[in-house]
Amino acid sequence: MPNQPITYPQAKEKAEAIPLLVPCLPDRKALSPYLDAIDANRYYSNFGPLVKSLEHRLAKCFQIHTDHPMHVVTVSSATMGLELALMALELPKGSKVVLPALNFVAALTATIRVGLVPVIADIDPDVWIMTPDIAEQAAKQSGAKAVLLLATFGQPLDTIEWANFQSRTGIRIIIDAASAFGSQWLDTANIPVVVSMHATKSLAAGEGGFVVSGNVDMISRIAQLSNFGINLDQGSGLPVGMLSHVGANAKLSEYHAAVAHASLDVWEEQAVIRQSLFKQYKLELEHACGEHLLWQSGIPPTSPVIFNIRLRHATQRNNLERLAGEQGIATRRWYQPLLHQHSPGIGPLHKLPCPNAEEIASCLIGLPFFVSLGQEEIKRVVKLVQFAVI
Ligand SMILES: *Cc1c(COP(=O)(O)O)cnc(C)c1O
Repeated sequence: MPNQPITYPQAKEKAEAIPLLVPCLPDRKALSPYLDAIDANRYYSNFGPLVKSLEHRLAKCFQIHTDHPMHVVTVSSATMGLELALMALELPKGSKVVLPALNFVAALTATIRVGLVPVIADIDPDVWIMTPDIAEQAAKQSGAKAVLLLATFGQPLDTIEWANFQSRTGIRIIIDAASAFGSQWLDTANIPVVVSMHATKSLAAGEGGFVVSGNVDMISRIAQLSNFGINLDQGSGLPVGMLSHVGANAKLSEYHAAVAHASLDVWEEQAVIRQSLFKQYKLELEHACGEHLLWQSGIPPTSPVIFNIRLRHATQRNNLERLAGEQGIATRRWYQPLLHQHSPGIGPLHKLPCPNAEEIASCLIGLPFFVSLGQEEIKRVVKLVQFAVI
């Protein structure tokens, strides 16, 4: 730990602003072969050729990590993917679904919009994800029939452990891996994983998402629900064109698929950059701040899109937030308010005690993180954090 006093530039020498996120999407040149394909195909939506080839490529990415055959359906957003995956479970209306408290709002809106009741439960104090013990306890107390897990900040869930949980308890599992493409893989047949291709994620299409699972029936059901619920299967016993469920229009367009293809072409290179930036950023902060910072434990993310630090005291977090604001360095309290702290008017909600999530959230702050983050910018942020916490 350095002993000399740290000086920090005052407002008069205020440097350039550092944004929180800078999306990194393919440019016009990278898009052009895919746009040419659209011009040639004259197919723009409704499970077109670019969507089909994208689903195939994505399934192959997951296939590398498992012997179970993997199937993918694209959707217009991960939020729609969560809604349709929840609907595809075909639980009785009003059934309860356990959600971890430290979470993006999409899990909450999706659960409520499909007529299910969220049960907000705590997370592991070190890894910040839900554990089977917490989930089982929460389900016992609430009667929940499903758990919508979150790969929090890219921290992958152990899918074999959760598949065992699912078969042992009969409680259905869905994984929200919206911002965890490249970190969350799947090594079981019966758990759907939902991924986002929003502009701020590591595989960006602007808007979009997909659901991957080894259960081909589940994937077909989600595909049908993404197209209003219209039956297109001649072998189903129902006439083609008949509505068999009330779905939504949640299809990915060919244009979004074009962007996703071009993003996927460079995804691996960018993941390497994200990973090494993350490592370096963390090392420099550890070096500068030592035991004043706490970190999410577990597996280092393969393709991080969010960079968080956890301070020891809420007052330090608030202080850092204020100083960063003065310096034009953007920060974000990711996933706050916690799911149980939103307006009570949003709908019925079952809240269990969440001391770990509340403790973590009170001292958590997201710092600027993006592929084009420069060395000087990292140094400025590190210096500011050091100034705020020591
Ligand atoms: C981004 C994100 C979503 C929403 O994804 P969209 O594709 O924007 O709907 C949901 N959950 C988590 C954890 C996310 O990070």
